[in-house]
Amino acid sequence: MIRGRFAPTPSGRLHVGNARTALLAWLQIRHAGGQIALRMEDIDKPRSRPELAEQIVRDMRWLGLDWDEGPDIGGPCGPYEQSERGSSYEAALARLVADGHVYPCYCSRAELAAVASAPHGLASEGPAYPGTCRKLTAGERAQRAAVKTPSLRFAMPDRTYSFDDLAAGRQQFAAGTGGDFIVRRADGIVAYQLAVVVDDAAMGITDVLRGWDLLDSTPRQLALYEALGLPAPRFAHVPLLCGPDGSRLAKRHDSLSLEALRGAGIAPERIVGWLAHVSGLLDRPEPIAASELIAGFELGRVSREPVIASDDLLKLLRTASTSS
Ligand code: GLU
Repeated sequence: MIRGRFAPTPSGRLHVGNARTALLAWLQIRHAGGQIALRMEDIDKPRSRPELAEQIVRDMRWLGLDWDEGPDIGGPCGPYEQSERGSSYEAALARLVADGHVYPCYCSRAELAAVASAPHGLASEGPAYPGTCRKLTAGERAQRAAVKTPSLRFAMPDRTYSFDDLAAGRQQFAAGTGGDFIVRRADGIVAYQLAVVVDDAAMGITDVLRGWDLLDSTPRQLALYEALGLPAPRFAHVPLLCGPDGSRLAKRHDSLSLEALRGAGIAPERIVGWLAHVSGLLDRPEPIAASELIAGFELGRVSREPVIASDDLLKLLRTASTSS
């Protein structure tokens, strides 16, 4: 059985960019006759807000998307909120510790910033960690442990990672890309990289469709699947929808949130039609229900270029909504 998921982080409103990724993930799985789980990625409690989680559920349903399991309807692989899944993450961490895959890191933000001019690393998070604490002796670790709570870092194996991305094509990451990464912060919060791997495996997810911004994370996640002896899903990374200024959509683009568009009187079918059109799935941006796109969906037709949600397109969306 094909299984996919929606994995929103409830620290902001759902905007047309997230909606597009969710729509494509939904179409991929529904086209294949599979099941979808909704998982709230609220592991970073201080940044997550329950009312936003509820809003995301409402917005996705309004758009015409549905799921077979989730925090609102339950299911066999729950809980579906990361904040409730701590014991699974601790078990995975214990295994990584026992097998020698992680080490304590005592570096401060300032020390990490000192290597910030290194010409490599993940675009999204700056330079690769230089491995300082990996080389500490047992004595040095004990000394530092007396004065500081460490974060835990995963020791990235020194090898190339490659995989066939169903949307972006063959991907290859050279050994050492991104460096060793944090799996548990010093404040005890388990990092996204580990939580997402543990959850996708526990929920039997076979297909992950998400934005290009997470492509860099995939070799890390593949390394974690391997270290934990878990099967990795297939991946499809789709281009992002960008704001009028060319930057990736974020909270500051509030006028592009589904809530704002709904408030402006725009029908969900109009948004779906526009998203399908800019994604290469519809010739014209005509209104259409998400369910009507299932039969003809082909991942191969999804454009590989980032899409700019320009003012013109937004105007089109608005005008069309009032004339329909
Ligand atoms: N929670 C992540 C986000 O909202 C998505 C994680 C994933 O799809 O792997 O960006």
